[in-house]
Amino acid sequence: MKKLAAGNWKMNGRTAQLTEAMALAAAHPSPTVDVLLCPPATLLAAMAQAMVGTAVALGGQDCHAAEKGAHTGDIAAAMLVDAGASHVILGHSERRADHGESSADVAAKVRAAWAAGLTAIVCLGETEAQRDAGETLAVIGAQLAGSLPEGASAENTVIAYEPVWAIGTGRTPTPEQIAEVHAFLRQNAPDAGIRLLYGGSVNPGNAAAIFALPNVDGALVGGASLKAADFGQIITAL
Ligand code: 13P
Repeated sequence: MKKLAAGNWKMNGRTAQLTEAMALAAAHPSPTVDVLLCPPATLLAAMAQAMVGTAVALGGQDCHAAEKGAHTGDIAAAMLVDAGASHVILGHSERRADHGESSADVAAKVRAAWAAGLTAIVCLGETEAQRDAGETLAVIGAQLAGSLPEGASAENTVIAYEPVWAIGTGRTPTPEQIAEVHAFLRQNAPDAGIRLLYGGSVNPGNAAAIFALPNVDGALVGGASLKAADFGQIITAL
């Protein structure tokens, strides 16, 4: 299956950083993998304009479960589409932790994303305490079952395994640990064609080794996606 390099800019980037997206697109006019950038919502429309005619697709970082209405500060899935997104990251551990999102909340958002025509990138991952307690696969299994509504397929869903303790820490799991979780996800995902991304401290130095692991179909990259040069090297490593 075609691999996917997805960059999650999180709460980083202003208009001046659009040049990074433009440099990335210019350096990779016809990449062998799918390339996706998920900028903050404030940059989505401008980045979409800058990415017209390039190989870079765009995604949001969250959406509301409702189609529209009285939800101050929130963003509807259709608004992301309107701004130029084809994807949306849902259930990121930072959303689950900072905003108390449960897997049921995530599932409701996934349904809203699908209804608007977006591909949902559903994130899951264990905390360090859960790994130390030997609960990793149980946690991942529960998040998978709870966060993916009926109807998830290779066309509308991507799954990202992001161990919470590996995000932004410079620490990555061992190859065996990544391979174990990805094998579990492949077996338990509702459609074997769903792409499985690894995320958590992916950088130009470790990308090739991670991508060589079985059942790793790409990466969800945080910090290293902010710079065109770094993300470009990751795209090439895929
Ligand atoms: P880092 O690549 O900065 O560790 O972030 C990973 C992540 O959370 C991507 O969604």
